[in-house]
This record gives sequence, C-alpha cells and structure tokens, in this order.
Amino acid sequence: MNPEYPAPGPEDAPPAEDRPDLSNTNVREDLAMAGRCALVHLPTGRTCLLPLRHHGPCEFHQPQEAQEVVAGNLDS
Ligand SMILES: [Zn+2]
Repeated sequence: MNPEYPAPGPEDAPPAEDRPDLSNTNVREDLAMAGRCALVHLPTGRTCLLPLRHHGPCEFHQPQEAQEVVAGNLDS
C-alpha cells in the first residue's frame, strides 16, 4: 500500500488530441493513428496525408493514396 496520491480513474484521462480545427471537418481516424493530419475535404472526399500539425494548408489526396498509407506504406 502506498497512499501518497490517489490513482486517477480512466475518466480523468484527457483526450488524445485537442484539435479545435476539426470542428467542421471530418477526420479519418485510421490516418490520424498513422500520424497524419487526416483531415477529409468533405466536398471531394479527399484526405490530407501531411504529417499531423503540419505547417501550411492541407494537401488533399485521393482515397486510394490514403488507403496505401493506412495499409502500411509509411515513411516513418
Ligand atoms: Zn492537413
């Protein structure tokens, strides 16, 4: 027993990411897990494959390219 401080419950865990920029966009979770920006341009269905928190505007790529990233074609 070591009661120096209480163990936090799972409810206390903060969200993995605070992404206020995502309020009106969609994100592919699989790409986000791969460390990509993963923003989806809803009108076209294209996805940004740039690194998470990249500088500058998003670059949207075809869904096939996004799928290649998810499938393990990572450069990291
Ligand atoms: Zn982006």
